[in-house]
Amino acid sequence: MTADTPMAPPPLKDDCFAMPPGVDWVPVDEALARLRAGLAPVTAIEDIALADAGGRVLTADIAAPRAHPPFANSAVDGFGLAHGTLGLGEVVTLPLHPGRAAAGEPFFGTLPPGKALRVLTGAALPPGVDTVVLEEDCTVEPDRIAFRTGLRAGANTRPEGEDIGVGDPLARTGQVLTPGRLAPLASTGVARVWARRRLRVGVLSTGTEIVEPGAAAAPGQIFDANRVMLLSQLAAWGYVPVDLGQVPDDPGALRAALNGAQADAILTSGGASAGDEDHVARVLAQGGTLHTWRIAVKPGRPLALALWRGTPVFGLPGNPVAALICTLIFARPALRVLAGEAWTEPTRLTVPAGFAKHKKPGRREYLRARLRDGRIEVFGSEGSGRVTGLAWAEGLVELPDHGHDVAPGDPVSYLPFWGM
Ligand code: AMP
Ligand code: MG
Repeated sequence: MTADTPMAPPPLKDDCFAMPPGVDWVPVDEALARLRAGLAPVTAIEDIALADAGGRVLTADIAAPRAHPPFANSAVDGFGLAHGTLGLGEVVTLPLHPGRAAAGEPFFGTLPPGKALRVLTGAALPPGVDTVVLEEDCTVEPDRIAFRTGLRAGANTRPEGEDIGVGDPLARTGQVLTPGRLAPLASTGVARVWARRRLRVGVLSTGTEIVEPGAAAAPGQIFDANRVMLLSQLAAWGYVPVDLGQVPDDPGALRAALNGAQADAILTSGGASAGDEDHVARVLAQGGTLHTWRIAVKPGRPLALALWRGTPVFGLPGNPVAALICTLIFARPALRVLAGEAWTEPTRLTVPAGFAKHKKPGRREYLRARLRDGRIEVFGSEGSGRVTGLAWAEGLVELPDHGHDVAPGDPVSYLPFWGM
């Protein structure tokens, strides 16, 4: 396998979204379990330079080829010495060796016992130096230094391999190379990694009423809020957003847009339920393998899940609030799996409520929320057309499937956007 011949994974099974017959309202957890069981990575594997690997998902474990630090070195600017040769007096005076050790400029000799050597931060400790006295703790004269005793053996040094030993595990298959995970790889000299290509996710808006923001809007038309929102969210998650534009409520246009999509997965919004002009579900049923799930979730109407010519399609509700929440709750974990990551639960924080709410049984509910002064605030209106609540929120409150009364101070489950 070389960089030029990425390995293609096997196609997804046609029944990967299938629900058992007779199932009506599906609890959120069951829908998620089905997604988890039915999906597998779809992105090809390639060998890439570390410089290009940020945000990529690893497909091989990585062990350290070199120790970190690779050699014992000084943690400070000061004077190196051999601790075992220090006397017992209250003040130590040592003659200065004329040499010097700096970062990248080693002292190639051996420091004789009873002498001190000028060393700077990051300099390799030469033979004869195991301890460094801080410059600020010394009285420095041209040919000698003096300092108070009490210096610990090994003080102000970083031992070889203190952080990472040769062969230590650094990163695992399925992990995303975050900025922080790149540092140990680079530090130990890893130059190339096996990783998956970035997941390409298409976003298609559907609806005869939808026009591009800023275009001349005829009576009855509204601007497309979902596409820019979802494309930006996908980019923030490290996927390649693919703008598939918008189509009217017309089966032929929808089919053409799906057929032309160059993407590993597709998010559509609008037209996913069973109304006269809701063609997404019908088209997916005819041309793909559709499994519409009536998921017991609020906000969110039927989420149409299908494979279109082998490509997973998430038919989201048109309502921007429902579209984003369904993307966060259902598409996000599914996209992770398609991209080669492990299934990941969102970060759930248990925080006292700063609100009161009577919740009816039946559907799991997500409220636009944010954390302020240790309490969870929820957006003033639960209206799912209120896009201002999306701008206001920094996360979601998750209320359980069963009926539930929340009083101020009660613990609630908060899902910050950063943890999804
Ligand atoms: P639908 O799911 O097609 O029934 O749409 C539900 C609501 O969301 C309707 O009021 C639509 O006009 C609105 N809607 C659908 N798509 C979008 C979009 N891309 N941007 C903003 N609103 C939308
Ligand atoms: Mg519609």
